[in-house]
Amino acid sequence: MKDLTKLFINGLWVEPQSKQTLDVINPSNENVVAKVANSNVDDVNLAVAAAKSAFDDWSLTPATERSKIINNIATRMEERKAELITAVSQTMGCPEHIAGWLQVDGPIEGMTLFADKAHLTEQIKDAGSSLIIKEAAGVCAFINPWNYPLHQFVGKVGAALAAGCTMVVKPSEQTPWQDYIMAEIFVECGLPAGVFNLVPGLGAVVGEALCRHIDVDVVSFTGSTHAGIKVAQAAAPTVKRVTQELGGKSPFIITDDADLTAAIKYGVEDVMLNSGQTCTALTRMLVPQSKYTEAVALAKSCAESLVVGNNENAFLGAMSSKAQQQRVLEYIRIGVEEGAELICGGLESPLVEQPGFYVAPTIFAGVNNNMRIAREEIFGPVLCMIPYQDLDEAITIANDTPFGLSSGVYANDEASAISIARKIRAGQCYINGAFFNYLAPFGGYKQSGNGREFADIGVEEFLETKAIQRG
Ligand code: NAD
Repeated sequence: MKDLTKLFINGLWVEPQSKQTLDVINPSNENVVAKVANSNVDDVNLAVAAAKSAFDDWSLTPATERSKIINNIATRMEERKAELITAVSQTMGCPEHIAGWLQVDGPIEGMTLFADKAHLTEQIKDAGSSLIIKEAAGVCAFINPWNYPLHQFVGKVGAALAAGCTMVVKPSEQTPWQDYIMAEIFVECGLPAGVFNLVPGLGAVVGEALCRHIDVDVVSFTGSTHAGIKVAQAAAPTVKRVTQELGGKSPFIITDDADLTAAIKYGVEDVMLNSGQTCTALTRMLVPQSKYTEAVALAKSCAESLVVGNNENAFLGAMSSKAQQQRVLEYIRIGVEEGAELICGGLESPLVEQPGFYVAPTIFAGVNNNMRIAREEIFGPVLCMIPYQDLDEAITIANDTPFGLSSGVYANDEASAISIARKIRAGQCYINGAFFNYLAPFGGYKQSGNGREFADIGVEEFLETKAIQRG
């Protein structure tokens, strides 16, 4: 069993003030895979103090030096990739062969790209009599969820390192392991003491204390909209900058001239990947009424071809926890009660013979956009298929949601897909089978959040702007 009971504060592995630990469960087999520290407010205070005292030196470290360290970190991530894959896979349930390309390769690329962003702190712009400069915003607190734990870590930590900020990180209590490997990598790469500090624990204790702390300047949170609101409320009295990456209920418009087979395969796999635990998942599939029957049949056969389990053939692993499994099953019950038509999957476990928190790929047809299964984020392998009469109606349904994180369009040609994409109120739109791009900014409209991660704008979240007025 992995021992994750120490904290990483001021460049050292230290015993926590709290003597409590939490079990980390492998959702694929229900075994305890690690014990992790359940830190308290005293631990938070020590970590913030370390980040504060490291700030002056790190924020004034030349961009070339910070860039070199970030590059070295990315190289070490590549060298320790197998450990990172194991850490993610065994704590959140994604099968190893998928976790490699989905959960680890991308974050390594993301970290590499941040090395080229450190120079943003050294750009000086002339504006009349003023010089406009960008400076590190200060001490940051990072609070992450469990679904893409390394990706979310890199989106925050890589950007903050490039910006010259120091930080305290709180991983999800379910998935802290890869953060411990990253702390070791930071030591190996010579990151100065205090720049990065790791304090695992509960959201209501560690997360809340970080948000309230007077010496924390920026909070970047990824997680549910419910917790994101609490984070913003806790941060408000000290007027912190708060970045929120929250939930979604993203639409996927298939036009009547699209390649239906290709579009359906893309849409079903998009929802089922990571067992549906993807904030950008295109969970509302909008299909022209004239193609609806054919589309439902295609979707059913595609979903039924996907293997569930924890081996090299599996497309869907376990849900990240028993609680998540039960939450998804409850939504499937709600869908049936609301009168949606269960096409495949459902309440029965696909792997009754073995332990693990599995849910079968599930599709509902006959869904209307007012049903709870179409309005609320389920965060599981559940696809809602909604018919539409014409494109205007499809766009209206697409935008009829409190969320605005992602969206998709599959059309016959790129120009018409782009013209539809421009009408959807969401932070990204994946057209004609696109995948995540680490060069592009990521973030949501409406209740999907505030702020952006990755790209230049993802670093600017951790920069302040100063005008030096010349006499
Ligand atoms: P969650 O909101 O329960 O927890 C996320 C993190 O917040 C955890 O570290 C948790 O300990 C902490 N937390 C909980 N309550 C807190 C509080 N009051 N104060 C401070 N911190 C608190 O979410 P989850 O179940 O871990 O993750 C799933 C959710 O995350 C989904 O809603 C999903 O859409 C969202 N998500 C969003 C993005 C995005 O980039 N937009 C990415 C991944 C996941």
